[in-house]
Amino acid sequence: MSRVCLPLTAPTLEENRRIVEAQRPYLDLVELQADTLDPAELPSLGRFPSLVGLPAALTARRPADGGRFGGSEAERRRILARAAGGYAYVELEEDVADPVLEKSLREGGCRIIRSFHDLEATPADLAGRLARLARREDEIPKAAVMVRGVADLEPLLGAFEGLEGRRKILLGLGPFGACTRILAGRLGSWLTVAAPPGEEPAAAEPDPRLLHDLYRFKELGRQTPVYGVIGNPIAHSRSPEIHNRGYQALGMPGVYLPFLVDDAPAFLGLAPRLGVRGLSVTIPYKQAVLAALAGRDEAVEAVGACNTAIHGAGGWYGTNTDVEGFLAPLRRQAPEVLRPGARATVVGAGGAARAVVYALRRAGVEVLVLNRTPSRAAALAGRFGAGHAGLDRRGLEAMAGYRDLVVQSTPAGMEPQEQSDPVAGYRFQGSEVVYDLVYRPHWTALLRRAARAGCRTVHGIDMLQAQAEAQFRLFTGSDYPHLPGAGDSRYNPPRQL
Ligand code: NAP
Repeated sequence: MSRVCLPLTAPTLEENRRIVEAQRPYLDLVELQADTLDPAELPSLGRFPSLVGLPAALTARRPADGGRFGGSEAERRRILARAAGGYAYVELEEDVADPVLEKSLREGGCRIIRSFHDLEATPADLAGRLARLARREDEIPKAAVMVRGVADLEPLLGAFEGLEGRRKILLGLGPFGACTRILAGRLGSWLTVAAPPGEEPAAAEPDPRLLHDLYRFKELGRQTPVYGVIGNPIAHSRSPEIHNRGYQALGMPGVYLPFLVDDAPAFLGLAPRLGVRGLSVTIPYKQAVLAALAGRDEAVEAVGACNTAIHGAGGWYGTNTDVEGFLAPLRRQAPEVLRPGARATVVGAGGAARAVVYALRRAGVEVLVLNRTPSRAAALAGRFGAGHAGLDRRGLEAMAGYRDLVVQSTPAGMEPQEQSDPVAGYRFQGSEVVYDLVYRPHWTALLRRAARAGCRTVHGIDMLQAQAEAQFRLFTGSDYPHLPGAGDSRYNPPRQL
C-alpha cells in the first residue's frame, strides 16, 4: 500500500496548518517546503510537526530540484538540520554528502529520503540511478522525473519493474506522468504526491480527497485491474467519474484513469505494464489506435473508428460502443424514429457522425448528411447509401424531407462555442426528435430552440452514459449499477431550459 503525501507551499505555518486540517482524513504525511516559507517563519518551523499531528517531511529545494531556495548552501543545510527532533523525514539530494548533518538527523529520529530530480526528462538509466541512490539501508531513495510523453513512460516503467519489491519513491512529473502517481500503490512507489486542494479538483491531477473518493487510492494493489481513457486533451473527461462510481457501487476492484497520450499505438504497447486491461478511446485517437489492434469487430470495420480497446491473450481487440451508446437513449425515449423508413438528418461528417449514420442505416432509417465541408458529407453518405448536402441554404431546405429525427454531431454548441447553432436557419415544426451529441452544456443552443418549438430532445450526456455503460459491461462482465445522480438524464432531471 502506498501513502498520500501533501506538499505544503503556503508562506506561513498557520496557513499550512489550515490546509492540512481540511485534508487530514485523506493524508498519511505532509511535506513542508521550507523554500516557500516566509523567512520570518523559519525560526519556528521545528514546531510544525506537533502543530499538525501528522508525520512530516522537511524539504528546502534548490531551483534545479524544482524549489525556490535562494540562499547559500550552508544556510540551506542549517534549515534542514532543524528536522531533527520532530520531523519524521528529511529530504537530502543525491549530491549532498555531509556526514555531520546526516548523523545529527539520524540521531534526532529523522529518516533520510535521498532524492534526485530531473525536471526536463526521464533519464534512460533511471532504474540504475535509483538503485544506487541510497547510501545506507535506512535511507529511502526517491526519483522525481519529468515525463514528456509516452516515450518517457518506458524507462519509468522499467525502473518500477527493475526495482520491484524494493522500497522507493518514484514519481512521474507533469500531465503525462500523472498516471504513475495515481497508480503508486499498484506500481510500487512508497508514497505519492497529491495535488494541492483547489476549488475544482481535476481527475487528471487529483488532490488528496479525490485520490481517496474517486480512485480509492488505499485499495490499489499489485492485482487491481486498471482501465482508463486515452485522449489529448483529457483533463475534463467525465469517464473516470462514471466508471469509478460503477466499481465502487458494485464493490468490485478496479480503477479507471484519464491517460494523457501523445502517441496512441505506443501507449497501447505499454499499457499492459501499467496493469491496463481496457481502454476507452477519445478525440483524437479513434482512428490512430486501429494500427495497434490485433482484432476488431464489425462496428469498427464499418465506422472506421474504435472507441473501446480490450486487452486479452492475443493483444488488443477493438470495438465501438458509440454505436450502441447513440442508439440506447433513442430506444428508450423515441423508438419510433428507429423504424425502417423513418427519415433523419445528421449534421456533421466526423467520427461521431460515422457511428450515427452506420447505426441509423443499419436500422433501415433514410439519412441525409449535412456538413460544413460538403465533400466530407458526400464521402460519408456514399459509404452508407445516404443523401448529402452542404451546411447551407440548400442543405437546410433538404431537411424538410428528413425530419423525424435531427442529430447534431459537430462540436458547434459545445463549450466554449455555446452560442453556436449549426442549423440556425432551419425552422423546427415541433414534431422532430432532436438529438445533440454535445454533452457540455446539457442544453445547447440548438436543443433550447428545439424544445421551445415543442420538439422532444435527447441529450449528449445520455449517449455518453450509454456508451460508457456498454464499455463497463465489456471491461467487467457486469451491468452498470443504477446510480441516482449519475450523469444520465434518466437519473438527473434535465436542468432548466
Ligand atoms: P470530428 O471527427 O473532429 O468531426 C467534427 C465534425 O464537426 C466535422 O464534420 C466538422 O466539419 C464539423 N464541425 C466542426 N466545427 C464545426 C462548426 N463550428 N460548425 C459546423 N460544423 C463543424 O469530431 P467527432 O469525434 O465527430 O465529435 C463531434 C462532437 O460529438 C464533439 O463535440 C464530441 O464531443 C461529440 N461526441 C459526443 C459523444 C457522446 O457520447 N455524447 C460521443 C462522440 C462524440 P468539417 O468536416 O467541415 O470540418
